[in-house]
Amino acid sequence: MQKKNKSKFSLIKVIIICLILILLSGVGVMAVTTGINTVKIELSNGYEMTVLTSKTNVKEILNDNNIILEDNEKVTPSLSEEITSSKTITISDKSEQEIEVAKVSESGVEMTLDSILDAYATVTEKIETVEEAIPFETVTKDVSNGSEDTKNKVLQEGVEGKKRVTYKVKYQNDIEIERTKISEEIIQEPVNKIIQVRSKTVSSRSVTTTRTESTAQSSGSVKVYKVTAYCSCRKCCGSHANGYTASGTRATAGRTVAAPSNLPYGTKLNINGRTYVVEDRGGAIKGNRIDVYVNSHSEALAWGVRYLPVEVQ
Ligand SMILES: [Zn+2]
Repeated sequence: MQKKNKSKFSLIKVIIICLILILLSGVGVMAVTTGINTVKIELSNGYEMTVLTSKTNVKEILNDNNIILEDNEKVTPSLSEEITSSKTITISDKSEQEIEVAKVSESGVEMTLDSILDAYATVTEKIETVEEAIPFETVTKDVSNGSEDTKNKVLQEGVEGKKRVTYKVKYQNDIEIERTKISEEIIQEPVNKIIQVRSKTVSSRSVTTTRTESTAQSSGSVKVYKVTAYCSCRKCCGSHANGYTASGTRATAGRTVAAPSNLPYGTKLNINGRTYVVEDRGGAIKGNRIDVYVNSHSEALAWGVRYLPVEVQ
C-alpha cells in the first residue's frame, strides 16, 4: 500500500512537470508569434552585443539600444532595411575609398570609367595633303678662262618648285603626335640658280673644270659606285684643304659629295636612302667613283670603301 501511494505521488509529480513544460512551450510559441528576435550587433570597435527585440527595422533596433552611427561608420544592412535571416547588424568604419567616392558624388563631379578612358585614349588618324615649296639650288658654273667681269655673274635666277605631299597624321586629344609621309608628287620642278665663277678665285679640292658636262647621267637611273669618304684635311685635299668645294660651296657633311663630271653640280644623289648633292670634284674621282664629305679624317677612314647603288634624283 505504501509502495502504491509512492508511485501515485510520483505520477502526480510527472503530471505537474508535464504541465509546466506545456506552459513553458506555450510561452515559447507566443514569443515566436509576437516576433521577438535575438539580434547580434557587431560594433566597429570589435565589440559584440546580443539584444532581444521585437523590432525588425535596423534603424529602430539601433535606436532602442541607443546606438548612434558616426559619420565615418556604415551599417549592414542599411538603416532603412529589415534585419536579414542572419539577424546580425554590423557597424564598420567606411574605407578611405568609400569616403572619397562620397566626396566626389557630393561635389557633383561625375567621372565614369568610360569618360576617363575617353580622355586618355583618343588617338585619331587623318590624311593630310599639303603643298610645299621645293627650294632651288644655287649652282656655280666654273669658267676658268673667263674674264674678270664674268666672275659671280648670275646666269640664271632660281625659281622655287612646288610639290604636293600627303601625310598620315596621328592626333591624341587633338595634339599631333606623329606625322608620316605617305606620298609626294612634284607639281613644279625648281629651277636652279646658276652663278658663273672662275676656278682660280675659288680654291678647292678640284683640279678639273666642269665646262664640259657631256654624258650626264639621267634622272632616276641607279648605278653602283665605289663610294669612299673624305674630309677637309691636307691628307684628303692637299693644297686645296680650305673647307670649300670646287663649286664654291662650303663642304658640308651629310650633303656634299664629290662626283665625276658626268654628274653636274647640284645633282641630287640618293645613297643608302640619304640625299647628297654633287658639289665637288676630285682628281681620283672618275668613272664609277664618288667621295662623300665627312667631318673628320677618322670618319673618312672608318667609312673605308663601299660599293653602293647610287640613284640620280
Ligand atoms: Zn681627311
